[in-house]
Amino acid sequence: MTCPICAGAPTEKYKPFCSRRCSEEDLGKWLKGSYRIPIKELDENDKIEKDIKVDKTFIN
Ligand SMILES: [Zn+2]
Repeated sequence: MTCPICAGAPTEKYKPFCSRRCSEEDLGKWLKGSYRIPIKELDENDKIEKDIKVDKTFIN
């Protein structure tokens, strides 16, 4: 197995990464991926707003 970030030889301490830098870079990727969650929540808020508009139409 090689380091998933730079394909270098992994070290025992930072397995499967070759260094702390590479393990942190991988963590950064995961954190970037988590930024997608708030966007999904925004989509849900849009849905809720649409639902409210439907309710207003119903009242009128
Ligand atoms: Zn590496």
